[in-house]
Amino acid sequence: MAEVMGSCHCGAVRIILDAAPETVTECNCSICRRYGVLWAYYAPNRVRFEPSEPVTDTYQQASRTLAFHRCRTCGCVTHWAPLAGRDPNRMGINARMLDPIVLAAAQVRHLDGAVTERYID
Ligand SMILES: [Zn+2]
Repeated sequence: MAEVMGSCHCGAVRIILDAAPETVTECNCSICRRYGVLWAYYAPNRVRFEPSEPVTDTYQQASRTLAFHRCRTCGCVTHWAPLAGRDPNRMGINARMLDPIVLAAAQVRHLDGAVTERYID
């Protein structure tokens, strides 16, 4: 597998994945629809950041099970990380930070996160 790299707009947050995503998820929940992101899910041990502690601010929904990270400089949403009570082996990378060619090769799936938490494609 070949690593793929992405970054926020300004380059302050760089993301290295051990392989390109095969699928990415568009979700219609209250936060994802506003962010307009496409999530690629990875175990954290398959993801590296440069710098290793990314310079981000975070936002938590009322449920406080995820922390959404955004670049402190340019504001791009880069990823979410699980908090207590959530599977620690799964995180979401905003695939829109990846090279468009990498993203174009991935299948887009549609998740009804607003209601059923099921894929609707
Ligand atoms: Zn940035």
